[in-house]
Amino acid sequence: MKTIGLLGGMSWESTASYYKAINLGVKQALGGLHSAKVCLYSVDFDEIEKLQHQNRWSDTAAILSRAAQAVEAGGADFILICTNTMHKVADEIQSSISIPLVHIADTTAQQLVADGVKRVGLLGTKFTMEQDFYKRRLSDQYGIEVLVPNSAEQNIIHEVIYTELCLGNINDNSRVAYLDIINKLYEQGVEAVILGCTEIALLVEPQHTQVPLYDSTQIHAAKAVDLAINS
Ligand code: GLU
Repeated sequence: MKTIGLLGGMSWESTASYYKAINLGVKQALGGLHSAKVCLYSVDFDEIEKLQHQNRWSDTAAILSRAAQAVEAGGADFILICTNTMHKVADEIQSSISIPLVHIADTTAQQLVADGVKRVGLLGTKFTMEQDFYKRRLSDQYGIEVLVPNSAEQNIIHEVIYTELCLGNINDNSRVAYLDIINKLYEQGVEAVILGCTEIALLVEPQHTQVPLYDSTQIHAAKAVDLAINS
């Protein structure tokens, strides 16, 4: 079995979801007392979040590249960044290490393509919804059309992520607001919605809506299990 490298702590609430999903996946595949070989570097999210909102992305890239080098030195065979947003600096991180980086947009897109989904809604931080680093990858490399909520709705989603979900606060009113936004995207003709922030599934689960949800955390973690066991 290969060793899975994780760059986590962004936030640790969702890194816990990764750790659990990866170990459950290995247990399911191999049975008994099997568990995943994991090398995790968990950063202090306060530092990263401040740099994000000051638009100091190259400083975040430097921190995460050093962390990725530590993960590689710790014996990881490949690495996952356990957040969609920080894939904004995925190329810089990849160029600082020699093990492969398993890109969260690629794994999510591959699942959408396998399921024949061509038009999708995207929820995430404002960085992920507004900027091109994620949406463009889905459209240019996989031919998937991506719709995002309007600006006011993006603000709501972003605020809930940073002031509630990343702190482990799960709030019924916020779930109602998210479901409303998901329904509006569905009315605009999307076939499914990507939970393109690794904490959103802590709030919105498949049983809350008829709209098919693609949880980037679970899809990314499942890919790691597959690579660890089958490659
Ligand atoms: N975990 C989140 C994501 O998947 C947001 C926190 C962050 O900015 O990294 O985008």
